[in-house]
Amino acid sequence: MTKLIHICRECLKKWDSKKILSKCNFCQSNNVYFHREFNELSIAHLDCDSFYAAVEKRDNKTLKYKPVAVGGTERGVVAAACYVARKYGIKSAMPTFKAKQLCPDLVIIKPRMEHYIKISRQIRLIMDDATPAVEPVSIDEAFLDLSGTEKLHKCIPAISMLKIQKKIYSDIGITVSVGLSYNKSMAKLASEQNKPNGFFVLGKEEAKNWLSEKPISIIFGLGKSTVKKLNSLGIHFCKDLFNFEYLKLKQILGSNTLKILKLAEGIDNRKVFKNSSTKSISVETTFSKIKSEKEIKNELHLLCLKLSSRLKDKNFIGKTLTLKLKTTKFKVITRSVTSNLPLQMAHDLYSRSEELFENEIKDNVDYRLIGIGVSNFKENQDDNFQLNFEDEVKNKKNNLEFAIDEINSKIGSNKTIIGRHFNNKK
Ligand SMILES: [Mg+2]
Repeated sequence: MTKLIHICRECLKKWDSKKILSKCNFCQSNNVYFHREFNELSIAHLDCDSFYAAVEKRDNKTLKYKPVAVGGTERGVVAAACYVARKYGIKSAMPTFKAKQLCPDLVIIKPRMEHYIKISRQIRLIMDDATPAVEPVSIDEAFLDLSGTEKLHKCIPAISMLKIQKKIYSDIGITVSVGLSYNKSMAKLASEQNKPNGFFVLGKEEAKNWLSEKPISIIFGLGKSTVKKLNSLGIHFCKDLFNFEYLKLKQILGSNTLKILKLAEGIDNRKVFKNSSTKSISVETTFSKIKSEKEIKNELHLLCLKLSSRLKDKNFIGKTLTLKLKTTKFKVITRSVTSNLPLQMAHDLYSRSEELFENEIKDNVDYRLIGIGVSNFKENQDDNFQLNFEDEVKNKKNNLEFAIDEINSKIGSNKTIIGRHFNNKK
């Protein structure tokens, strides 16, 4: 028999055993969780339990045992219902008047979004300490990829997640539920399993069996009307999908058929998107003497090369370019342009910033500083993302720039650069 890895949710100690133990070897608590695959699982989903309502209860202790809903009064809907209110059948998105009918004592609180956002940020900081790969899904949930963090934290991802759960409770005062698995869709399903303050693990070995008995409505991306259609064909559980004729299924699910079948089997190749905490990267230079327009453009060109090299190092591609100018009279001018064209290549940065610069410069004004920055990042990890365009000239420029980057990386300097005039040729 393979060994079972046990973790105590109280003292966070881990031990192996061939038999199932319900008591902690160390602190004797009964709060023990065991799983065969604990050491291999590193994708987690963290979800705050009835977030808005939990925050309101935290801030007003007199509400502790009362049924509470956050939402619009009178004609509004419920945005979040606490676990006491849920016992009356109150759910999110239910009209407030209906919730009041179900529970006349219901305390309805107007949402304080700014306050919730502030708390959401505090939770984010706790998650960021555990891994750089945190992908927020909404104000109160996120995916985390903890692969490779064992050495740093000296514990497996499961224990890291339990630590986060405890820290959020002790520092912020609300409970969260954690799902741990080997991919995003399974981690999300796991976090829903024993709310509130839940911790649930789904391993690879058990995934298909576990899913087969579950209603198809749990599959990520299946809408209510699609579920209804499938139900009318006798497809109620995930296992029913596999026994159904593929072509008939395709008539309902269309191009998503294969994806849905894979999800129903526990296969999901989506990566946890590393949302960078870097919001922008910028470079600037101050002039020691007054410069002509042509000289400033030369400086701008050098800045573009520098900025591009930083973006390439970090694998960042932005959508917004900002130009900053400071006059000799210390007036600061900033101008931004946002477009869907990816910003990373030096020649793109230059042509865009040169345009901004030309719109701004005035005849009788001298400048003492110029800077450029790129923000609004999209990380360059999307396989479909193309820096090369249909445009032949642009392709040439990209290829030349990549070639020069390669030379520079080989000689370990940035001495080889593309002249500005190359970039100006259309
Ligand atoms: Mg939630």
